[in-house]
Amino acid sequence: MDRTRLHALLARESAEAERLGPRSCAAYAGAGHLFGRVPMTWMNKTAGAFPRYLAGARGARVTDVDGHEYIDFCLGDTGAMAGHSPAPVTEAVQRRFAELGGATAMLPTEDAEWVGAELTRRFGLARWSFSLTATDANRWAIRLARAVTGRPKILVNSYCYHGSVDESLIVVGPDGAGTARPGNVGAPCDVTLTSRVAEFNDLAGLERELAHGDVAAVLMEPALTNIGIVLPEPAYLTGVRELTRRYGSLLINDETHTFSAGPGGCTAAWDLEPDLLTIGKAIGGGIPAGAYGLSAELADRLLARTDLDLVDMGGVGGTLAGNALSVAAMRATLEHVLTDGAFTRMTKLSERFEAGVRAGIDAYRLPWSVSRLGARTEYRFTTPAPRTGTESAAVSDPELEDFLHLYLANRGILLTPFHNMALMCPDTTEQDVDTHTEVFAAALAELAD
Ligand code: PMP
Repeated sequence: MDRTRLHALLARESAEAERLGPRSCAAYAGAGHLFGRVPMTWMNKTAGAFPRYLAGARGARVTDVDGHEYIDFCLGDTGAMAGHSPAPVTEAVQRRFAELGGATAMLPTEDAEWVGAELTRRFGLARWSFSLTATDANRWAIRLARAVTGRPKILVNSYCYHGSVDESLIVVGPDGAGTARPGNVGAPCDVTLTSRVAEFNDLAGLERELAHGDVAAVLMEPALTNIGIVLPEPAYLTGVRELTRRYGSLLINDETHTFSAGPGGCTAAWDLEPDLLTIGKAIGGGIPAGAYGLSAELADRLLARTDLDLVDMGGVGGTLAGNALSVAAMRATLEHVLTDGAFTRMTKLSERFEAGVRAGIDAYRLPWSVSRLGARTEYRFTTPAPRTGTESAAVSDPELEDFLHLYLANRGILLTPFHNMALMCPDTTEQDVDTHTEVFAAALAELAD
């Protein structure tokens, strides 16, 4: 890669973004009352000098305040995997909030049992409880795992992401021992007191850590999706299940992103048998929603524990969790939008996207790789594809990534910030995918010139 050329191209695309986005640029410059100038500090993770401001979004399209339309492959980093404001969710939310009235009354609605039964059909776990975010689903699952095992530690994979969960902000350090993830903000204590860590795809490393006998649960994505996509090698996940059983640790599958693998995520697609499962983002069709599922046996054991306060201030739950609006949105999303049929179509489109990216990489003989997990595809600047989170983290190239994101955005295509990741929704079309293939190839041509 000619770095001088890359640098010049990035500067050119940055200037072009400013030319195209005067209103976004001005809104950002004027946002002096916001911490970091944005409603949430992550929104500063944008290629270029300012974020594009949202005007509206429908299906697979986003429009910004400068009047530009984008094909959206970011889809709110999975929150909008059902497409933006899908009609059945819009109707259900309007009915619940406006017609019937009542979003948050601390009373159950009949929709909740429908959603629980559907999650059981899809993922296999027998009992469900709701949250508003995947982070909270993970936090509460962790607490329940500690309570039921009486063990203090949680084991995660290096460079995993499970939300802002304290226990998960640990990586394998250069000496092979667990250490705080770089940038960990205000950790409540040394993370090695609460957590253990192993590399993804490393059963020997996992066994070494589990053998201490102090791990309540392994919290993992069946494929890493937050440091590129790192797919499991054959027999790895079976090995994880065997080892967790042998050493008395529970297994929590976080399917928040791996839901892209199919209607029941990787758990159903690959016949996995977790003790607990967490999910968030996509299942609310854009309305905040999350859930955790547990086996009947685990649920019964927990409910029989009279020392655990599961009803009031024992540390599990939230005032707005499971509220009528959130549950109505989940029902509409699962019943009418992210259906089994929709996953079949989204996966086909993702295969087409993957083929397009691969063709570009092959044409310019780039040492890059592409990985796909159902409806989600990601490319990484190395080949073969990384086997672990640490390997994947080592090959990140922020300047190259920024160039590609900006080049695409300036031509009407959004990828997921933090990644070179593209997700399909039920409204994505073959033409959308082909447009990406063309613009991606043009970006590579500029780099190669
Ligand atoms: N789990 C996984 C696998 C995630 O990717 C994320 C967010 N990217 C979360 C949990 C947390 O989701 P939220 O920020 O909505 O709580």
